[in-house]
Amino acid sequence: MPEIDLEPDDCIENGVFSGHCTMVESDYDLAIEDTDRIHGRTALVNNVRAASSLAGAIRSTLGPKGLDKMLVDADGTALVTNDGVTVLETANVEHPTARMLIDASSSQDRSARDGTTTTVLLISEMLQNALELVRMGVHPSIIVNGYSLALDEAISEISRVSKTSDQSQKFQVIRTSLQGKGDSSLCDVLADLAIEAADSLIDLGDGDDIERMFVKRLQIKEGGVVDSSLERGLMLLKSRVDISTKANADGGRVAIIDGGLDKQKLEISASIEISSPGTLQDFHRKSRQNLRKQVDHLEALGVDLLVVREGIDDEAVSMLTDSGITAYRRFEREDMDLLSRITGATPIRKAEDLSADDIGSYSKRSEEVVSEVKHTLIEGLGGGMTLVVRGSTPEIRDEAIRIFDDAIGVAHRLNSKPGVLPGGGAIQAHLAGHLRAFSQTQSGREQLAIEAYASALESIPRILAENAGRDPVEVILSLSADQKDSGAWVGFDLQSGKNCHMEELGILDTEFVVSNALSAATEAAIGVLRIDDVLWARTDPSTPDWESSED
Ligand code: ADP
Ligand code: MG
Repeated sequence: MPEIDLEPDDCIENGVFSGHCTMVESDYDLAIEDTDRIHGRTALVNNVRAASSLAGAIRSTLGPKGLDKMLVDADGTALVTNDGVTVLETANVEHPTARMLIDASSSQDRSARDGTTTTVLLISEMLQNALELVRMGVHPSIIVNGYSLALDEAISEISRVSKTSDQSQKFQVIRTSLQGKGDSSLCDVLADLAIEAADSLIDLGDGDDIERMFVKRLQIKEGGVVDSSLERGLMLLKSRVDISTKANADGGRVAIIDGGLDKQKLEISASIEISSPGTLQDFHRKSRQNLRKQVDHLEALGVDLLVVREGIDDEAVSMLTDSGITAYRRFEREDMDLLSRITGATPIRKAEDLSADDIGSYSKRSEEVVSEVKHTLIEGLGGGMTLVVRGSTPEIRDEAIRIFDDAIGVAHRLNSKPGVLPGGGAIQAHLAGHLRAFSQTQSGREQLAIEAYASALESIPRILAENAGRDPVEVILSLSADQKDSGAWVGFDLQSGKNCHMEELGILDTEFVVSNALSAATEAAIGVLRIDDVLWARTDPSTPDWESSED
């Protein structure tokens, strides 16, 4: 990780640095009581230092040859991961600037599901290069302008270079995004399943959470992890409450009760005055009648499948059977919600409050025994799938789920935004060259900022080469020479050590991941550059003493 030299305190006045005025308490400072204050260049130096130490923590994980990190929590539970955002979100980071970077990376994860390490590395490089310019006397607001111009130009160049992916390239795109995340044959299996699952979501809109809302992850310990599969509908490890009811059905009407189907209970606190011998029997008779009424109501609504989140009274079970209703109890909330989405049934707390509009319809229900485990599958017209993750230990299954989550996230977004770009740092190398040429068309000091931005982009191919044990300077030089002759799609193949056409190699990044990472990184870097004053509330003695490291 590059070390940042700390210079004597300077401050910014009218765009020019001068003197040592930062830590001096002026009259103005006295107005802000109970506050520690650092400003001017000291604030920037501290912030850049925080950003680069954070980036240093995940730098070695970038790319297919990136190394893993072992994260150990307070209980000693270990997680080995190669995923930048997981490392950062687990780390106990207190510096507010470092937290801004982590937030940028988390937001990249939420919106694009990939490119999280790239985002943090770009912010850090942009800030380090900006600090160099500040030291040369360029005002941060000029750098902010230059960076904004560079981002706009980069985004329009990205859409010029991008190609629309076809169905056969989807697999390559997902595989590129899964590089280094786990065993290669497992990634192949999960990439295929993710593409199939994402295709089933096409008509459900492109909300960020669709792939979590309509695809259940079910863990089964029998079988190997590569035997994991995708099932249509909602799959559950349970069977109907009464085995004398039908095991299979080719569709019907379903009701969901978000509560229980119980008799009124005689609780200790209930005050029933037993004044004559028949009172208690009367009470039980009334509760039975009430249960009967609820079941009759369900029957009148034409329900033949009942799903209950809590318990079902034994007497109700036989009443339901007599009414031809197959019932399931103790449904998990998540399963209930998914069933509601795929059948259109609305969960209602009490059976008697159900109306015809709350009843949904399912297209198929079946019960089978797979690997000695009974399970039920319910299909609706509203889509929905279950990923059955197999594997002998929870760690293996959790890893498979993490890989699948990333894969379906990218696959789902690719369906609505099919643009792809050359991977392996080729697009960033191309953008760097393009922006350097673009900077010549600009007047003033913004030129310098655009060049600084270009160098920050070049850090991606540089770090990818470094992590693969290649000479980064050589790689960058040969890449920019070859790209001049053959265009943006030429990239450095980390395996063979040669420059190749990335589309032929199948190393493809998605346009939305690349452009999102670039916008998120620029936005965060600009956010940090705009800060020239950091005020720490003095009230909490545990407030970290960041400013002391600068003296
Ligand atoms: P991020 O968290 O930013 O997605 P990754 O560790 O997943 O970080 O690395 C992503 C980078 O690795 C992208 O620039 C991608 O193009 C590159 N990459 C992935 N697979 C390959 C490959 N086989 N050869 C070269 N580069 C690759
Ligand atoms: Mg990635």
